[in-house]
Amino acid sequence: MNLTVKELHDQRKKLWNASIASHEKYINPENGLFQTQFLENRNCPVCSQGEYIALFAKEGGQYVKCVSCSMVYVNPVFTDQALNDYYDKNHSVQAELVEDGDPFYEKLYNKGLDSIEKYSSKGNILDIGCSSGIFLDIARERTWKTWGVELNVQEYSMACKRGHHVYNQLLEKIKFETRFNAITLWDVFEHIKDGAFYLNMMKKMLFEKGVIFLQIPSSDSLAARILQEKCNMFDGLEHVNLYGVNTIKQLADKCGLKILDIQTVISEIGVINNYLNYEDPYLGSIDNKINIPGLIDEAQLNERLMGYKLQVVLGEMK
Ligand SMILES: [Zn+2]
Repeated sequence: MNLTVKELHDQRKKLWNASIASHEKYINPENGLFQTQFLENRNCPVCSQGEYIALFAKEGGQYVKCVSCSMVYVNPVFTDQALNDYYDKNHSVQAELVEDGDPFYEKLYNKGLDSIEKYSSKGNILDIGCSSGIFLDIARERTWKTWGVELNVQEYSMACKRGHHVYNQLLEKIKFETRFNAITLWDVFEHIKDGAFYLNMMKKMLFEKGVIFLQIPSSDSLAARILQEKCNMFDGLEHVNLYGVNTIKQLADKCGLKILDIQTVISEIGVINNYLNYEDPYLGSIDNKINIPGLIDEAQLNERLMGYKLQVVLGEMK
């Protein structure tokens, strides 16, 4: 399958609309925000300070920016109970999007593995939120031994059928029979409210010199900064923590981890370009061919770590 950019964005739009429709029952129609019974206030998930500036509301949720460390996060946020209920009732549709042999994802997965393999020997790899196991397939082709965790039952059984060791339980409840050389989270970590808790837990599951790999949307990306509330990174509910280059480093420090490698992927220049041409950023117009010339260069964007997603490799501070 080789999707055109237009088809890819059409598909994403469909998924986006389905996800946003599921917010509706939690929203107070009077102010367009989530009803307070589902919410709790919190301090900054990176530096624990309580002072913030409000950025914007999006699809029911309020984004704020920490005055002290500049972390962008949802506040107030869904309580754990409300969040579990939401995920139980709203089947994740990511597996429908990431299909076998999709070169867009294969390239990202291989790029991530390239960075991991610079710092870790190939051995046991655990993918948290492994969906149907496509990433694990690629890792196995590169001779890794593969484990996965997936809460969605359908995706879990798909990953099992592909022959990976997969668990259908919360990470904190699993007793693994081994430790890992690498633990990966692809587009998962931004969903986790208490990132420090998870990093500390994963650290204990590593062999010596093991690494943790995160792919996360970046609040420092040019796309997020230009599009702001129009950017799909901000969904108001699921993406509770939006790290940037400095805030992910600060969180890692707090957990005794250091950044071994950091890069950005996905320029979103097409999306930015649509927006700068007064089009819908994600759909645009098929005949919108006018580039904003010379201002945005993909290589420069990634050199400055301003691509849409961060790929980070973390190792223990010694
Ligand atoms: Zn902070």
